[in-house]
Amino acid sequence: MSQRDQVRAAADIVKVVGDYVKLRKAGANYMGLCPFHSEKTPSFAVHPARQIFHCFGCGVGGDVFKFVMMIDSLSFPEALRRVAEKVGITISESFGEAAYDPNTRVRAALYKLHESAAKFFAGQLTGTAEGRAARAYLEDRGLTDEVVGRFRLGYAPGDGQTLSRYLSGVLREIVSGGAAAETELLEKSGLMVHDAERNRRYDRFRRRIIFPIANDSGKVVAFAGRALGDEMPKYLNSPETPIYTKGRVLYHVDRAAQAIRKLDYTILVEGYMDCIAVSSSGIENVVASCGTSLTEGQIRLLARYSRRVVVNYDPDSAGVAATERSLALLLEEGFEAKVLALPGGLDPDSFIREHGSGRYRELLAAAPSYIDYLTDRAAATHDVSTPEGKVGAANAVLPYLAKVPNPMLRAELAGRLAERLRLDQRLLREELRRLAGTTRSEVHLQPDAAAPKVTTAEKELLRALVENQELADELLPQMVEQGLLEGLVTEPIFQRFLELRRRGESAEPAVLEEPFSAELRRVFYESLFWAVEPPDRGRIDRHLRFLRARRARRQLDALRTAVQEAIQLKDWAKVRELEKAKSNLENELRGLEEGRKISIH
Ligand SMILES: [Zn+2]
Repeated sequence: MSQRDQVRAAADIVKVVGDYVKLRKAGANYMGLCPFHSEKTPSFAVHPARQIFHCFGCGVGGDVFKFVMMIDSLSFPEALRRVAEKVGITISESFGEAAYDPNTRVRAALYKLHESAAKFFAGQLTGTAEGRAARAYLEDRGLTDEVVGRFRLGYAPGDGQTLSRYLSGVLREIVSGGAAAETELLEKSGLMVHDAERNRRYDRFRRRIIFPIANDSGKVVAFAGRALGDEMPKYLNSPETPIYTKGRVLYHVDRAAQAIRKLDYTILVEGYMDCIAVSSSGIENVVASCGTSLTEGQIRLLARYSRRVVVNYDPDSAGVAATERSLALLLEEGFEAKVLALPGGLDPDSFIREHGSGRYRELLAAAPSYIDYLTDRAAATHDVSTPEGKVGAANAVLPYLAKVPNPMLRAELAGRLAERLRLDQRLLREELRRLAGTTRSEVHLQPDAAAPKVTTAEKELLRALVENQELADELLPQMVEQGLLEGLVTEPIFQRFLELRRRGESAEPAVLEEPFSAELRRVFYESLFWAVEPPDRGRIDRHLRFLRARRARRQLDALRTAVQEAIQLKDWAKVRELEKAKSNLENELRGLEEGRKISIH
């Protein structure tokens, strides 16, 4: 048994979660107030038998390690050690080096390299003449020593060799594979670039002010370098590496997490300097999306701390477009969003320097909701004194409203929009209903009458297979090959399940759910929390028959269409052939339906 499984088996998730959340027994589960989003009625469930947790409100879920990783902002090895300590199991020292993941050794080395590089850059800022010039530049922008130290700002010298030489020394201590292994690691780190023509390596960051970027547990995983002069690009970033995925990191989130939880909202800015300026004014709940437009991964990261956001991007046209894109994503994920557009076309950094943090706080407190912001923008670009202009403005805002998952809230916001534009409420609501019904993502997010329903068969099969992976190995391949899952809401879950098993990996909930959308994860955990008793073999067979019958009915529909087409073409040989196939299928369907004595669907 691996150490991971050993610790998992010894730990009781109810006890571990109970240290953080007040839990109350409710049926087979325990319920409490979710620590990852703010709520007044408990929707956070812990399943003692399956040793998993799931929040029916914000959709987070996983096993005991995932819980500890999220609540304490720890990496997996750290969470494992912490849980092991709680249950009195000693984790061998080598764990975290290679024990659970072949890439861990590389990742651990990359963390060390980045930490060393951060120290190196910081030292350069004060220790060299070149660096002191950079320090003077920061001082001009109002950054005190305290702030420079807190954000670990640094300087990358211009000669392009100093960091490489420095890291070679570090590497000799942590790598035991000679020069080849050292080179490989340096290349993986993204800190060096290779000039193929001259066949030499040099530092990626040269003559730049360095902003270390940490992940949510505070480990430095990448750097951004700002040009001192007019060099392009203005900002240069680390490439993606085994420890850095751009779309999953938010600048400053490690330090902001506590304040975000406490204040229950995040201020989202674009740039590093913006983030530092806001944070230095004593407003700690700020993160930066670092130039890239906000990704789903970043939103999931934010959702751990709060589902309320104030978007404070630059008011230039690129910033406005980025704001609108971000809003669309945030709304889809059920966030409550406000927009702070600073006057005078200023970004947060320049605004605070010109007008002070007091004025910034005032504007922050008065930031309008996204719906008011969008309506204002639409009203400014359309002539709302004419009926056509009103309709144009409404049409600019409606697509955003259609993304709001909660129908009640959606209707309320539509009412407000109608009021502001002096439009007929009823007409606007109808238009919104039409939009909401036709947007695919909307159907996906809001399982209402029009959306495909998750059947009992899917839920119970999923649950049975997760619990019994040998059974999964027996059933999953035929379920996929026979097309039993085609078009089901849960199809991607089953497919990933099979993929993991084919690679010989265990499909634990926490691993299985990883790539899924919030909605799919919700379906998944609902399945795992479904019913008290796991289904027995007889019930599983009935579910399989149900899926086979469903497939047969789909095939019959297709055949009927094909028969109609063949009749129109007067292709009588084809008609006979199709009719024969049709009657075979009808027989099969009859057999399946008769075999299913108890109707449960
Ligand atoms: Zn929650």
